[in-house]
Amino acid sequence: MAHQKKFADIILPLAVTGTYTYRVPERLYSQVITGMRVVVPFGSRKYYSGIILKLHDSPSTGFKIRDIQSVIDPFPVANAYQLDFWKWMTEYYLCTLGEVMKAAIPAGLKMESETFYFLRKIPGKNFQLEPDELKLIKFLEERNEIRLKDLKKRVKIKDLSKWLDILIGRGIVSTREQIRERYRPKTVTYVKLNEDYQHKEKREDFLDSLDCAPRQYDLLKAFLNDRRIALEEVTEIKKEKLKNVPRYSESAFQALIRKKVLKVIKRKVTRLEMAEVPVTELNPLTPLQQGALNEIKKIFNEGKVALLHGITSSGKTEIYFHLIKEQISLGRQVLYLLPEIVLTAQIIRRLKSVFGNQVGIYHSRYSDAERVETYYNLLGVSENNLIRIILGARSAIFLPFNNLGLIIIDEEHENTYKQSDPAPRYHARDSAIILAGMHHANVLLGTATPSFETYYNALSGKYGLVGLNERYSKVELPEIRVVNLREQYRKKIMKSHFSPVLLKEMKDVLEKKQQVILFQNRRGFSLYIECVSCGWIPLCKSCDVSLTYHKQENRLVCHYCGYSMKNPGICPRCDEPALETRGFGTEKIEEELAIFFPEMETVRFDLDTANSKKQYEKIILDFEDGKTNILVGTQIVSKGLDFDNVGLVGILNADNLLNFPNFRAYERSYQLLSQVAGRAGRKYEKGLVVLQTSDPENIVIRNVLGNDYNTIYNNQITERKSFKYPPFFRLIKISLRHRNYQILGVAAKEMANELSGIAGLHVLGPQYPIISRIKNWHIQDILIKIPRTVHLKETKKKIHQLVLHYKITGKYKSLDVIPDVDPY
Ligand code: ADP
Ligand code: ZN
Ligand code: ZN
Repeated sequence: MAHQKKFADIILPLAVTGTYTYRVPERLYSQVITGMRVVVPFGSRKYYSGIILKLHDSPSTGFKIRDIQSVIDPFPVANAYQLDFWKWMTEYYLCTLGEVMKAAIPAGLKMESETFYFLRKIPGKNFQLEPDELKLIKFLEERNEIRLKDLKKRVKIKDLSKWLDILIGRGIVSTREQIRERYRPKTVTYVKLNEDYQHKEKREDFLDSLDCAPRQYDLLKAFLNDRRIALEEVTEIKKEKLKNVPRYSESAFQALIRKKVLKVIKRKVTRLEMAEVPVTELNPLTPLQQGALNEIKKIFNEGKVALLHGITSSGKTEIYFHLIKEQISLGRQVLYLLPEIVLTAQIIRRLKSVFGNQVGIYHSRYSDAERVETYYNLLGVSENNLIRIILGARSAIFLPFNNLGLIIIDEEHENTYKQSDPAPRYHARDSAIILAGMHHANVLLGTATPSFETYYNALSGKYGLVGLNERYSKVELPEIRVVNLREQYRKKIMKSHFSPVLLKEMKDVLEKKQQVILFQNRRGFSLYIECVSCGWIPLCKSCDVSLTYHKQENRLVCHYCGYSMKNPGICPRCDEPALETRGFGTEKIEEELAIFFPEMETVRFDLDTANSKKQYEKIILDFEDGKTNILVGTQIVSKGLDFDNVGLVGILNADNLLNFPNFRAYERSYQLLSQVAGRAGRKYEKGLVVLQTSDPENIVIRNVLGNDYNTIYNNQITERKSFKYPPFFRLIKISLRHRNYQILGVAAKEMANELSGIAGLHVLGPQYPIISRIKNWHIQDILIKIPRTVHLKETKKKIHQLVLHYKITGKYKSLDVIPDVDPY
């Protein structure tokens, strides 16, 4: 028999560094395997479920080692690839294993310990009890035990937790911890005839005995007469079906169960959509597409990442499908990543129609239970483990792949691949490339507007580059007309936010029964109110931002913390009814459209109107079906949607994009503007774009106009080099937060000083970010630039140690230190 390891290092779902060592009790020797979920005690009375990272024979000294309490599943939920990947992530993104595990394991598999309260002893007469204590004791006396949340509902006492603690301290109340899994398999109830009644005679006798129970008689008769039972094709049918019997009665059914005539069986079923879809053939590629495919394969053979730089509608997706098919026939798995927002029914349908039930979907708009089942399917512990292809958003990189052959990262330039909060603050594209390395899998990045880092890697030969410059339909890219806003305002010919050109083109296109998309980037330019008499602007009471005005609810809302207040109507500072709206967001545009185009159906498409999967899909479907004529939206409208009948795209104001203070502002603006423009005239006819800006000579605008990616790239890459930004330097941003302004100032300065002491680093700051207070936490940022010449791993280790030191040092109590590697 194999040697049994006596100790286990466990990852706990806490923001603690490293792992905790526990003893494996003898009774569990034969069960424990790395990657398994186990229940362990932690602290004085809590239990947690954690994952075994490592089994070994050397206990860490100096601590009292406690026992693993139990093993949760008969199989590991994380495989060796995953554990290695998690370790890489903690080192690269300066986070903890617990944080990575929390992001990696679907929420449904995280277990929580729940506290149950019960009465331990009834206090004697000489106990002095407060009325609330007495009330609690009375209540607990009448039941075995109760959860805190139920207790809160049933007993109305102020400071309930405080009184419970007092009673626990006095030895009157006690608690018990129970660990509970959130995921429950879905079951279907089947009904079957009990063995005794398989005999026809016995059945008949019994039916005769049911003279005075007509409901039971009808029910049993219906069951026996079910065509499939009668033909002995099956022996059981779904209870749901039985419920369709006329005058079905649940009590009659229960009676037949009690009398042991019928019995029920519960069967686990999958929640995943497993319709037997017709499998269609792949489209044959055009010669140009075939050429691109061959080049990609050549790059793969050299062991490199491939970048497919193809204009919108050139058929990148078709090429992906051919590559996927090849991997599947080799028996390997495929991960196909898309930005969350692009993962629409459109693309899911397209993929499923070719690959059927081998496709699994994984993103945040799916339920917890569905995600667990997709996870189990890949782990190979479901009833049927058919899934070979995962179509997912960034978190899909954490699924338990064991044989990845290919990762496709579509729209690789999208910033939503970067997780900003909470930790791990990972970039899914960069992490996926590491993951692929572990599996010896190929990576294909696809986009019409590559991120500058990726393009730099392609030009320097680190990645292979493949271009695709023709649309499948041969429809030309849209014509872009720039409108100079400054001039229009000077001539006083603007109609609110619309130039005469834009209004005229909208009218023409709508008359031709074509559709219009209007783009308004809401960021930093949404609607707020201002007192025209005294200049008062309502600000959030806990963040340093002005409140956004929501007309429909007539409320002022903070987009950072969610705080909201009613529109005061009268200025609270000068008591004048002089509050007016300023700036403009999508809602304001929608309102103005109703005036300019009263007969047209307009729909607003932004995070407020499309925050659920249902709303989102309805907006898209209605637009596809031509039920809406004008779509007004934020960034959301730029994301790879494929509409056929859009004659015009209007960009209301490009300025706030260009002026955003971030080294990626021009890159992002170029990408966003060309992507938005790409929504015009895709299939049948060349489209038109009207772009309004007060800076028509801006290099971004000029190159969007000329569709000249290379010029803007060269311009920006030169700047990045001289100003020491990626890809020439690596960045780490460290945000420090504290409720006390002064303590924060001192701590930030001190930390910046210590960071400067690490060899090779360029340290900027500390400085206040644009929004320097959120929910009453003051914020300062330190930016670290790391030259390519330093040893990255060693340097990061030092930075990480410093971060941890500041996190746990008693000197700056409750200082929050948040490292963000490769920030956006
Ligand atoms: P991209 O991903 O580059 O934006 P798509 O793959 O979505 O482009 O192609 C755009 C449109 O052209 C889609 O409707 C697609 O079905 C069609 N198409 C592209 N290539 C082919 C092909 N080889 N055969 C048939 N249809 C194609
Ligand atoms: Zn005022
Ligand atoms: Zn706020």
